[in-house]
Amino acid sequence: MNYDFDLFVIGAGSGGVRAARLSAQNGQKVALAEEFRYGGTCVIRGCVPKKLMVYASEFSELFHDANGYGWSIGEYSFSWEKFIVAKDKEINRLENIYSNILTNNNVKHYNSRATLKNYNTVELSTGEVITAKTILIATGGRPFIPNIPGSEYAITSNEIFDLPTKPNNVLIVGGGYIACEFACILNGLGVATTQFYRGDQILRGFDSEVQELVSKEMQNKGINLSLNNDVESISKVADGYIVKDKLNNEIIVDQILYATGRVPNSENIGLEGLDIKTGLKGEIIVDKYSKTNVENIYAIGDVTNRVQLTPVAIVEAVAFVETVYKSNPTMPDHELIATAVFTQPEIGTVGLTEEEALKKCDIEIYSTTFRPMKVILAGRNERMLMKLIVSKESRIILGCHIVGHAAAEMIQLAGVAIKMGATKEDFDKTMAIHPTAAEELVTMNNPTR
Ligand code: NDP
Repeated sequence: MNYDFDLFVIGAGSGGVRAARLSAQNGQKVALAEEFRYGGTCVIRGCVPKKLMVYASEFSELFHDANGYGWSIGEYSFSWEKFIVAKDKEINRLENIYSNILTNNNVKHYNSRATLKNYNTVELSTGEVITAKTILIATGGRPFIPNIPGSEYAITSNEIFDLPTKPNNVLIVGGGYIACEFACILNGLGVATTQFYRGDQILRGFDSEVQELVSKEMQNKGINLSLNNDVESISKVADGYIVKDKLNNEIIVDQILYATGRVPNSENIGLEGLDIKTGLKGEIIVDKYSKTNVENIYAIGDVTNRVQLTPVAIVEAVAFVETVYKSNPTMPDHELIATAVFTQPEIGTVGLTEEEALKKCDIEIYSTTFRPMKVILAGRNERMLMKLIVSKESRIILGCHIVGHAAAEMIQLAGVAIKMGATKEDFDKTMAIHPTAAEELVTMNNPTR
């Protein structure tokens, strides 16, 4: 049977574009459809604009700190409008790079929604029908908002990047990555920020020392964190929204940002008609090679809800191309993924938390908190955390957790050593770099417990 293409990719996010490019470079005839913008969540309304906002928001603290180092800073103010223009310019530049990657590698791309019609056919929203030997679904995910009275007034991380003006007063709902990052960003930009989290402590699943320190520092910086609390209802009034909470309080805010998790984009793309299996959240169920229950249909990235991170989608794309086109069956490696949360202070983490490790084996904990040099002249009390979790028997470092300035940069490198199976003694043998914060990682001599 002759098909129009060897491969048809649905979705031009990090995973889809990487798979399309590598397959085309390998000689396959490839097409791709994208209904929104090239670059996907990460580039258009996720990691990239978020990091730009983190940079923007950090200046308020830097201006404050400069004074302690002898600088006199005059009047300063932040223009949300100016920032949005600059941010949009950069996002447009990156989007062009993504679409040029496809053009330059002869990937035929359609600005259109694609729906599966049968195992080898997709129909575009333009009505065009295209056949392909293999289909790769890389449609990503979207924010989820629980259904409560007035939830239609809430915004998500999709909208926050494009608000025309800076809100004065915001409520953030959720205690995960996105909620905590945006609480810090908005607080740093001078927005009065309240955060509701339904449980005892934000950042569930992180090491408890990380959770506690970040929660404390976020509150010290001015975030009004309300734990064991949630929204009961939202109603619109002339000057904003009235939020009634579970504790029977009312607050009035300009915007309510829900960051209560993300769900896979697996609806209305024709999966049901083809009996492609999905899980409880709608995630496409795939095997270790990213193959669905249909022989020639694969899925990668957030739509599979394995690990919702850009670099993971990219690794899954590379493994797909190796497996399907290079006779080299490759399983994406989801073990020991280093990750960062761009809160202020930042978190970098890889491997097991203390709580997880305790359930597996006998461990030693090496943990220290300290005031990093940089904040001392600035007159701030912010503390940093460095923590290693070590197997008593093998001496292998099972987990590393960092809170503080440049934690993300540090954990990327610590992650290499830990992925290689470094032991505590390997870290001890490594010469410290003085004066840095990172030197603590190689100079913690005695276990804390
Ligand atoms: P998370 O899963 O990290 O957090 C969701 C939060 O919402 C949790 O605190 C959860 O509470 C709470 N929640 C869930 N459902 C409800 C509900 N019905 N009512 C009230 N609260 C609720 O999701 P995010 O949206 O923050 O981020 C999605 C994913 O995106 C992350 O898991 C991460 O993989 C990725 N991401 C990564 C980033 C990075 O690498 N820096 C940055 C941003 C996102 P509970 O804990 O009690 O379940």
